[in-house]
Amino acid sequence: MLPSPWRQRLWHQAEHRRALGRDRAIHPAGGVDFCSNDYLGLRRDPRLAEAAAAAARNHGSGAGGARLLRGTTPLHDELEAALAQWKRTEACLLFNTGFQANATLLPALVGPGDAVFSDALNHASLVDGCRMARAGGAHLGIYRHLDLVDLGAQLAAWRASVPAEALALVASDAVFSMDGDAADLPALLDLCDRHGALLLIDEAHATGLLGANGAGLAQLQGVHGRVPLVMGTLGKALGAFGAFVCCDALLREHLLNTARGFIFSTALPPPVLGAALEGLRIAQAEPWRRKRALAHAAHLRRPLGQADQPSAIVPVPVGPDAEAVRLATSLQARGFDVRAVRPPTVPEGSARLRITTGAHLEDVQIQALVEALALELPGA
Ligand SMILES: *Cc1c(COP(=O)(O)O)cnc(C)c1O
Repeated sequence: MLPSPWRQRLWHQAEHRRALGRDRAIHPAGGVDFCSNDYLGLRRDPRLAEAAAAAARNHGSGAGGARLLRGTTPLHDELEAALAQWKRTEACLLFNTGFQANATLLPALVGPGDAVFSDALNHASLVDGCRMARAGGAHLGIYRHLDLVDLGAQLAAWRASVPAEALALVASDAVFSMDGDAADLPALLDLCDRHGALLLIDEAHATGLLGANGAGLAQLQGVHGRVPLVMGTLGKALGAFGAFVCCDALLREHLLNTARGFIFSTALPPPVLGAALEGLRIAQAEPWRRKRALAHAAHLRRPLGQADQPSAIVPVPVGPDAEAVRLATSLQARGFDVRAVRPPTVPEGSARLRITTGAHLEDVQIQALVEALALELPGA
């Protein structure tokens, strides 16, 4: 009997991926962590575990429903208030994941006749949000990575062709997840002001890590509290899980009435909120953690000849997929958990190692990786 049509289709697609060397698999953690986003080393901190357990005892293991039904506990309100205060915004709305937030808040804000402009290297969740907005009738403009001249030209050309009430939204990662470089938020804010556009910044890799008290790139660049929509995640530097959007009360009210990823999803469970609250407290109280993660990244960048960046992400450009995989495997065999990132996560021909650093790493471990990289990458 012939295999069913869907099985034949999937089998061919799997063969094709293998032939390209692009098949993905889940590899368990092993060796020294140089690939997680646990920048502050909080993921295994016993204080977060204890806070999670206490939250479960006091408020239950699950929320039991969506926020708009019975899913809101005092911890949801407490965490939203604490995040708004940290990010210096009027309000905050929790989302279950960063992916859910980005994928559903864009189509909640722009519709037919509107436009969304997105940096070419934005995270996949913003890309999907943009596609949803376009499916809903909005114009989608992709501007060259960090190129505000290109963005300005696209905004001006679009604005000239639409009625005055049409809304433009500009979306950008703060720190780019695969390159570790950063957007220029003051310049983006100026540009958006000039064109009457709404700015959404994704601080997933900056929250907890950048700025005087870890509030993120906006704080580091002197525009703390000025970005109208700041999205961030709780599962990276803060060691928990989930996401949030900090904004004013009007935007929050709009999102909780219209963002489908917020409305139609069970609220974050109390243990996650307990851990996030404790992670947030520690992120502010223990600045040595972010200094250490950033110093480790700077230490890795120097021998690679890379300019310093405000992030704990150090890409090692390789090019061919197979070479990136070979390098990662070889470093893994030496005890370093370094992962290769291949297309389509990164552009064609730009496979790389994506090395990350965290406060839990020791100086000797960084030095050992520097030496291993020197062996593996002669000429680096
Ligand atoms: C990780 C990440 C997300 C997704 O957040 P999750 O909470 O993991 O779903 C969104 N944007 C960026 C830039 C990210 O790196």
